[in-house]
Amino acid sequence: MRVLGIEGTAWAASAAVYDSDADADGASSSEAVFIESDAYEPDSGGIHPREAAEHMHEAIPRVVETALEHARDLQEAADEREARASGDSNADAASGPPIDVDERCSSDQQAAPVDAVAFSRGPGLGPCLRIVGTAARALSQALEVPLVGVNHMVAHLEIGRHTSGFDSPVCLNASGANAHLLSYRNGRYRVLGETMDTGVGNAIDKFTRHVGWSHPGGPKVEAAAEDGEYVDLPYVVKGMDFSFSGIMSAAKQQYDKGVAVEDICYSLQENIFAMLTEVAERALSLTGSDELVLGGGVGQNARLREMLAEMCDQRGAEFHAPDPRFLRDNAGMIAVLGAKMYEAGDTLEIEDSRVNPDFRPDQVPVTWRGSERS
Ligand code: ATP
Repeated sequence: MRVLGIEGTAWAASAAVYDSDADADGASSSEAVFIESDAYEPDSGGIHPREAAEHMHEAIPRVVETALEHARDLQEAADEREARASGDSNADAASGPPIDVDERCSSDQQAAPVDAVAFSRGPGLGPCLRIVGTAARALSQALEVPLVGVNHMVAHLEIGRHTSGFDSPVCLNASGANAHLLSYRNGRYRVLGETMDTGVGNAIDKFTRHVGWSHPGGPKVEAAAEDGEYVDLPYVVKGMDFSFSGIMSAAKQQYDKGVAVEDICYSLQENIFAMLTEVAERALSLTGSDELVLGGGVGQNARLREMLAEMCDQRGAEFHAPDPRFLRDNAGMIAVLGAKMYEAGDTLEIEDSRVNPDFRPDQVPVTWRGSERS
């Protein structure tokens, strides 16, 4: 089965093709999941919704066409293999009319190169989501294949579960616009804890904008932190919820007072990632799970991964962070979860397929866990 995924919740215009048969045959993740992305990079400041939508409008057709070309190549290769196999079996057959391979191939050429079209339904920026939704609906109708509406945050989680092979992990989603802990219970992913204000990446980006650094700020903070020393900043965890607004205001104030930016970056990382590690440990303890997966673009940070890995090691739990190409926004995770949903029959009628900028992960009935391929 091949599924086309389309992602465009904020900055990444991305299309991907997931080939579940190649995956089941042991292909590497880069062979089984083809991803083409085109990032929106603001000239100044943070992500501007109108500019991001203009980027989607311009880039989505291009990345989708590249992904579909790849799907057509896969389809052609599969057709050739099938034709060869059937040619061999015809040669072996003692009776019956020979199959006209040329005729069969030419009729197969009309077949859609994918079995379904999956798209990010939300959460995300409304103007961007609407462009992606329109593209996905049009493709589903043109290719005459089902439409699958994927929750972007559940996709961040599921790609970690898929690439780790873990059965029922706790997931820490550390992305730009979100930060929360999820765990599966009774047919849904439950939000065990979450940010009480901004997403973790957005919080870091707000500080770097104040400093005058270009978007995205996370990698720049990571690089600057290498030369820093600790200065005191707030640390706010309440149960399994947490807050970043106080720490961001304090970081800006320290910078305005002349504290070295490297020291602030170092301390931001230490505090923010320690907060996330503390709540992740609490979630493991509460659920009794011994598996943790990481999701989201901030998960590309080596210090965050180091803290989480160390915490898991100390409590005898397993930790998995997917490849960076699956952590930041990408259509690969949409295609992979889209395939699972399609296989479970979880498809959408066009009239029910509107996007939802506030789509929470705990609103999604998890239909696919009973019907997954091992
Ligand atoms: P969401 O998935 O919640 O919609 P998003 O669309 O903003 O969020 P992601 O791709 O998950 O996108 O994450 C982008 C964020 O990751 C940005 O805020 C960026 O600064 C941050 N980021 C990227 N690399 C790093 C890094 N090495 N360290 C810390 N943060 C990083």
